[in-house]
Amino acid sequence: MHMTQSADTSRHLRRVVVTGAAGFIGSHLSRALLEAGTTVIGVDRRGQQHDPLAAANLDELTSFPNFIPLTADLMNCPLEPVLLDADAVFHLAALPGVRPSWGPTFDAYVAANIQTVQRIMDAALRLRVRRVVLASSSSVYGATDGSSSKETDRPGPLSPYAVTKLAAEQLCLAHANRPNAATSVMALRYFTVYGPCQRPDMLIHRVLTAALNQTPLQVFGDGLQQRDFTYVGDVVRATIAASLTPAANTVINVGAGSSTSLSDVLDIARRLTGRSVPVIPSRARAGDVPATLADITQAQELLGWKPEVSLAEGMERQLRRLQEAG
Ligand code: NAD
Repeated sequence: MHMTQSADTSRHLRRVVVTGAAGFIGSHLSRALLEAGTTVIGVDRRGQQHDPLAAANLDELTSFPNFIPLTADLMNCPLEPVLLDADAVFHLAALPGVRPSWGPTFDAYVAANIQTVQRIMDAALRLRVRRVVLASSSSVYGATDGSSSKETDRPGPLSPYAVTKLAAEQLCLAHANRPNAATSVMALRYFTVYGPCQRPDMLIHRVLTAALNQTPLQVFGDGLQQRDFTYVGDVVRATIAASLTPAANTVINVGAGSSTSLSDVLDIARRLTGRSVPVIPSRARAGDVPATLADITQAQELLGWKPEVSLAEGMERQLRRLQEAG
């Protein structure tokens, strides 16, 4: 019989730090933890006052008495008082997005995606925080032949963003492998995450708003690209499981394990909204990969996790939230 090391989800996280808590995935993760009774210190440099997206994401969290919001930049805030007494750190803060990582903003990517990891790991090890869970990305795989990517595949990042995410993984693991390190690491390679409050620059948000508002959708490349779209609620469950599993110091794919083409996404959007999606074709952009698909065997074995929400169901939830927001 195959022995698995799945997470004991009955174990309770008493107090955790979530970085990037005002972001798309960080706010969903924080909410799930708060609902489970965990005290969450939510760190983000975007505050409610000056950033409407952050305000929308933080709005529901601030009503929880066990939420401690902290508006701070991880590049320069003192981290030991933040991490003190935490059972785990979920390090999601980063500059996401492939396109803007080319050119002059690269320094900002290095700071947000690599240097913050160095600071977090340094403080976590000194304070003997048990586990750091890092948000990494499927982009580390680069171009594939369309078959599923396994964690043991050789990475081939095709954009500066992807290079920073691969560096972040390796940096975490290097710290965790230091002699006598009390902190262990799980680096999760998220595959295109979607759901309510998805970042406005991401495809499904753009498709649904184009359908709702009848504004043109710019489609890059030949439209044949395939993505493994992963529902944010499924990502949150995997992320919490990664903080509890006895398995450690490795990378794990978090994806739906199935791939969908852009034209199928457009079909679902048409069906859900009853409206067509006006499309403007544009040239492919550097760094975009033709296909992503996760092999999720490791996630099933080490986290006892599998995705539950279908793309049509998840897109419907995202659409409903957009309609509520007006
Ligand atoms: P997001 O932009 O919505 O959230 C990231 C948050 O991090 C932002 O609120 C930002 O203000 C914060 N942040 C960045 N630098 C910071 C700093 N120096 N100090 C404090 N806060 C800082 O992005 P997201 O889509 O929620 O992504 C979360 C994580 O998941 C990122 O690490 C991203 O690389 C990774 N990821 C996301 C996807 C996806 O499909 N959304 C896919 C793969 C990996």
